[in-house]
Amino acid sequence: MRGLLPLLVLIAVALLAGCENPLELDRDTEIAIGRDAAAQLEAKYGVVDDAAGQRRLDYIGARAAAASQEPSFPWSFKILDSKEINALALPGGFVYVTRGMLDYVENDDQLAGVVAHEVVHVDHHHAKAGIEKAMTQSLLVELVTRKSSRTIKQAAGIALELELREGYRDKEYESDQFGTLYAFRSGYRADGLRQLLSRLHEDKGDPARITWILQSHPPLSKRVQRLDEYVGELTGTGGG
Ligand SMILES: [Zn+2]
Repeated sequence: MRGLLPLLVLIAVALLAGCENPLELDRDTEIAIGRDAAAQLEAKYGVVDDAAGQRRLDYIGARAAAASQEPSFPWSFKILDSKEINALALPGGFVYVTRGMLDYVENDDQLAGVVAHEVVHVDHHHAKAGIEKAMTQSLLVELVTRKSSRTIKQAAGIALELELREGYRDKEYESDQFGTLYAFRSGYRADGLRQLLSRLHEDKGDPARITWILQSHPPLSKRVQRLDEYVGELTGTGGG
């Protein structure tokens, strides 16, 4: 019996090999995983009931989503009940800023910058590769072919774990750049995210804020430096 399951998986993989990218998560599955992960996240932290803050976030979020490559995703933007200065995104369009972040930003340009950064993680499908890599091939085959709620839940747990523990570290420059573009296209200042990252960099001595700083990789100074150049290109002032 022990040898049978791997053999069946091998057969399933062989059968699927005729399809194009048989083990790639499709759009509906990606959304289902994100929705489940969002429910797990909200159960863990809770969502803040702040009508004014929510209106502000909805307005900014809708504009950033409209500027993205996936405007038809079921986008939602919520305030997570945490004092940590943070923002996160789950596959399929589930974006969160923490209460700490909402208190920290000085203006809508900065908020639009960080929200649009998260929108890029979603619309460039940054979690997908991580989920596909983290899940065993057998589980992924089951997910792609049968989409049982058990495997969706399992994949959602992995997606959440990846985002909370690691973030999308190798994708930060990309999200900074496209996030800046989306915020700018939405009518906000091009340097909103740059302002925010620069302030976080200067505030890094504050222990209440250090978690976010440490999680952030590559270093904030490098991200600010790159944004300096890009904002310059975008607005035609300086940079190159
Ligand atoms: Zn990021």
